Amino acid sequence: MLGGASEVGSLSAYVENKGVRMLFDCGLTPSKPPKYPMKPPAVDLAFLSHAHIDHSGMIPWLCATYGMDVVATKPSVVIGTMLLEDSVKVSSLEGYPAPYDKGDVKLLKRHFQEVTFDDILDVGGMDVVVHSAGHIPGAAMYEVQSDRTMMFTGDINTLDSHLVNGAKPVKCDILVIESTYSGRDHPPRKETERHFLNKTKEVVERGGLAIVPAFAVGRTQEMMMTLMNSGLNVVMDGMGSAVSRHYLNMPQYLRSPERLADAVAQIKAVRNPGDRKTVAKNADVIITTSGMVDGGPVLNYIAEKKNDKKSAVLITGFQVEGTNGRMLMESGEMVIVGERSKIHCELGFYDFSAHADHNELIKFIKACEPEDVVLCHGDNRTALANDLKVDGFKIHMPKEGQQIEL
Ligand SMILES: [Zn+2]
Ligand SMILES: [Zn+2]
Repeated sequence: MLGGASEVGSLSAYVENKGVRMLFDCGLTPSKPPKYPMKPPAVDLAFLSHAHIDHSGMIPWLCATYGMDVVATKPSVVIGTMLLEDSVKVSSLEGYPAPYDKGDVKLLKRHFQEVTFDDILDVGGMDVVVHSAGHIPGAAMYEVQSDRTMMFTGDINTLDSHLVNGAKPVKCDILVIESTYSGRDHPPRKETERHFLNKTKEVVERGGLAIVPAFAVGRTQEMMMTLMNSGLNVVMDGMGSAVSRHYLNMPQYLRSPERLADAVAQIKAVRNPGDRKTVAKNADVIITTSGMVDGGPVLNYIAEKKNDKKSAVLITGFQVEGTNGRMLMESGEMVIVGERSKIHCELGFYDFSAHADHNELIKFIKACEPEDVVLCHGDNRTALANDLKVDGFKIHMPKEGQQIEL
């Protein structure tokens, strides 16, 4: 495990089998300063589970250094490239230069080996099967068939969301699985949606603006589909609208392209940053980036409304330690243009997670019937380990930098 083993972020796992050197994900944590995984050794082939930066953030560096190919689905290629280009731009703005530049991202584009679900690749004589992980469109799990079959899940969701269908278990001997929600269960999604919609309407009725920070990739579209047909004046701002357009061009990766198209048609996007003040005044709800309130247009809207008790900031997902969103949830304060300010808006948290929760992970793991379970990408893996040990699974919780032989 090179990174993201005992924490949610910068995931990277190096796997050697029959002389083939493979890397699964190579992410970075977009905190300030960003966190990186350990430097991987040279690899023959890399696999990207999905576009999110905590899985993809270091792939351009990897490719520029070793020149190997990167296996990924089309949405991961298209959206991943977009996020990486943005991350180069943002990092130079924020004074934490990325360990690669625009040219490296361009080079990476030529090294992608595009796959789709159910494809079987020949990797040094081993078959590698691509499965859907249900987390965001195109998120993949990789099953490496050998003397013992190993599956790397990346981030998974086993329940159907508005955007994608849930992941199905795959029989394997060794399961390398994320554990973000180990020890925690999500409230039923329908209930979360109801609470969220009720709160949004309450904010609008009292004359406030509901500010909904959401990742551009996955969460924005999920929130659009949650808010469509609500009768509210919902507007979106940020990269999410470009992502939605790309998704509509890859309908086979969506649960319902028709519903996403409908949401995109209903929800206007802010095209000109100069319009933000007017939008803040006239809209009911604004869905905007970044999801962890660390940059992007969300800062404009919060700055505009920070003294308005009628308005609300409704957080829609897990906030990583060290981010503005986490600070806001814990202290009611956040940093806007270098200054820590008190936010007087109502604050709300709604669990719209795209990760399987504790019980869903257990159900999924049992159905995969592995002998060995390697838990990673979680800061509380013991909770899951304790529940799994009872059932006789061999549990591994490698630390960052630790090597295990299976
Ligand atoms: Zn993810
Ligand atoms: Zn992740």
